Amino acid sequence: MSRVPLIAGNWKMNGLVADGTALAAGVAAKRKGQPDLACDVLICPPAPLLAAVIAAVAGSGVAVGGQDCHAKVSGAHTGDTSPALLKDLGCSYVILGHSERRGDHGETDAQVKAKAACAHGAGLIAIVCIGETLAQRDDGQTIAVNKSQLRGSLPEGANAANTVIAYEPVWAIGTGRVATPEQAQEVHAAIRAELVELIGETEADKMRILYGGSMKPENAAQLIALPDVDGGLIGGAALKVEDFWAIARNCG
Ligand code: PEP
Repeated sequence: MSRVPLIAGNWKMNGLVADGTALAAGVAAKRKGQPDLACDVLICPPAPLLAAVIAAVAGSGVAVGGQDCHAKVSGAHTGDTSPALLKDLGCSYVILGHSERRGDHGETDAQVKAKAACAHGAGLIAIVCIGETLAQRDDGQTIAVNKSQLRGSLPEGANAANTVIAYEPVWAIGTGRVATPEQAQEVHAAIRAELVELIGETEADKMRILYGGSMKPENAAQLIALPDVDGGLIGGAALKVEDFWAIARNCG
């Protein structure tokens, strides 16, 4: 099965209007300059920057996504963003269940699942993030934790067209400590095996599983080349056009 890799930039809570727009325009220019690049490219800015970023990448083929959404279509939820609004703005993806949301906001698998279901209803592709802490890895719980998070976070109707999984070991996010290719492949293969149980072999085979955690130009090639790694969710290195593009270029 050949899956089209996805290179996704998670800007987190970084950027103001001018530098965020310039970063988006820089990525768009790279994408336009390399039309035959064999991967999908996505950037996920902070919510207030979405409209400016969507305008900056218009016509380039670069997709834009949110970093979170609510589990309801609309209503009295001060400070939240509905998936319908993300879609209406021009987003095609939304990151859900990032470990920083799970940590900072106490998000549970059940909440991630509800958000993903609502995102699907709005026509968004949900990037569902899972990953173990260092304590869980040291305790030999890595595979069990990831399988359990996957099971708890995937909504009914999840398929390869509406869902991407991001395996992000918490100990590797923003730490400069990257999973070895062996560690990454072991978990990605286990996630795919669990997907077979959850959504069947055909969809599991087609579903993209991204690696996230200190992916940089120096380590991206060997990670992206792994059989069950279908691209990356990139934080720090997505904040510089040259670094982000050096990673994307590994997709051929
Ligand atoms: C992330 O934010 O999802 C991430 C992987 O961050 P970093 O690349 O900085 O580790």
